[in-house]
Amino acid sequence: MTKKDKAALIEQMEKQRFLPVTDETFELYQEYNAMIDPHDPDEISYLLFYEGECYFRTGDFNQSLRRLTRCLQAPKKPELMYLDSLSYNIIGLIYGYLGQENIAIDNLLLCKSVSKRLHLERESAVCYINLGITYNHLGDYETAMRYYDHALEYASRADDSYYSLKMLCQSYRGIIFCKTGQSEKALEIHRLLTELAKTDSRFFYDASVLNLNIRLFDFLPDEKALHNHLEQLLGLVSSSTDFLEMSEFYFDVCDYLVEKHMQKESAALLDVIFQYVKHSPLVFLRYEYLKCQVDYARMFSSKQDYLKACSQFIELQPLYLQEQRDAKLYSLDYIERLHQTKNDSEMYREKSRIDQMTGLLNKYTIQFLVEEDLSSLHSGRQSAMILIDMDHFKQINDTLGHLAGDSFICDTASVIHSYFEDNALCGRVGGDEFLIYFSNVTDVSFIVLQAEILRQEICRKTSKNNITITTQASIGIAFSSEERYDYQSLFAAADGALYRAKTNGRNRVVVAD
Ligand code: GH3
Ligand code: MG
Repeated sequence: MTKKDKAALIEQMEKQRFLPVTDETFELYQEYNAMIDPHDPDEISYLLFYEGECYFRTGDFNQSLRRLTRCLQAPKKPELMYLDSLSYNIIGLIYGYLGQENIAIDNLLLCKSVSKRLHLERESAVCYINLGITYNHLGDYETAMRYYDHALEYASRADDSYYSLKMLCQSYRGIIFCKTGQSEKALEIHRLLTELAKTDSRFFYDASVLNLNIRLFDFLPDEKALHNHLEQLLGLVSSSTDFLEMSEFYFDVCDYLVEKHMQKESAALLDVIFQYVKHSPLVFLRYEYLKCQVDYARMFSSKQDYLKACSQFIELQPLYLQEQRDAKLYSLDYIERLHQTKNDSEMYREKSRIDQMTGLLNKYTIQFLVEEDLSSLHSGRQSAMILIDMDHFKQINDTLGHLAGDSFICDTASVIHSYFEDNALCGRVGGDEFLIYFSNVTDVSFIVLQAEILRQEICRKTSKNNITITTQASIGIAFSSEERYDYQSLFAAADGALYRAKTNGRNRVVVAD
């Protein structure tokens, strides 16, 4: 597989983002996964993002969160930083859906700052919209409006291809004007959108515009128009492949219709929503639906039916609370990791993935790559980690000076590089400490032999400025096993073996039990 083929595949995955998710989508990811270069975090980042977004679209939030947070942790070249912005945005949406607006806003603000830093106008507009939606959902219309205004600013500044984004901002603003009774402004937006609809064929009536038009009934009580818009909305719900993304509008309109005592209309809308919700695995969608159902029953049904709706709603509570609790637990884990990400990865990303002095992978990057590889370790495959630490290196610095010390570190690195570059990940993980990782070990004794050869290669006498010194190193090796399947435990085992090599006299190879 050439670089060109891979680029074509990435292009195909990019296109897929805007098409409905099918089995082929996942096949595409598998195909790409099979050809990823394990040395290249960029290639892994793509996969993590595309899969994460795809799981989000299918409503599998846990799988989505796992991949997107991992994508955020990946060291990336500057051209791929936009993936961070996209990931934060989706994570924000997920927590918004799960009713955890505080975490949602935190992520959306991170999305905003990344987008601003990278001058991503479209992404900035999108995250301002999502911030607006979140506040709208909380009933804080003033803050929501402020964010929609910002979004509009970004969307208007950008070129013509942001057309529908601009329209979207306007309809969101219009909905808020309706909700807060500002009829003049709402009608002005309505006029603007109608005008544009006449002149531009790209204009499509999506759920937000329909939501606005329906709410305008307050100021323009035109029954015929109302039913026309409702008809279109019903069509949209039943044909929608992206129900999830639009769901908020559908429930919002439902609230409005119930509030306005429009029994027939709200029943029709609840009916089509039910057709979707009854098949959905998403508890929070059923929760929103039943909430509307309760409101409806309170307003229009007999006491008996009302109680029935209430008890259905109550029955779902434990499941809903469970879903929320899972997400909360995940978010705690995530927040902790994120702090690590902010401290470590941003620092490392500023520099490069490569250790500047030796040209090997730096500590953060090799850890990321090893973790990725270990997370896909299937039973039967064994991996190995070799840790190398130079012996009495301080003495070398003390006798020959720091610069000479540096050149010895580089010498060792180039020996490691020339021996293992082709079949292992090689990194510098400390001042005089190196890590080599083998992803697929078929012969354990061969690895030990290689380590022994490496030790002999490092161990040599050198003369500089009439001083003769011997460089040497101690080596610890650990193999993955059922108990040793993650980076921390594998590293701890290799480190323990290295410690034994040091305490047993140095200049030797020790294999962990
Ligand atoms: P030991 O045999 O126990 O490993 O002893 P050591 O002297 O090698 O000590 P240790 O591994 O604990 O510490 C590594 C030393 O390497 C500490 C520091 O003086 C030196 N060092 C760390 N980074 C660099 C570097 O980039 N350049 C140079 N020249 N020296 C470094
Ligand atoms: Mg040392």
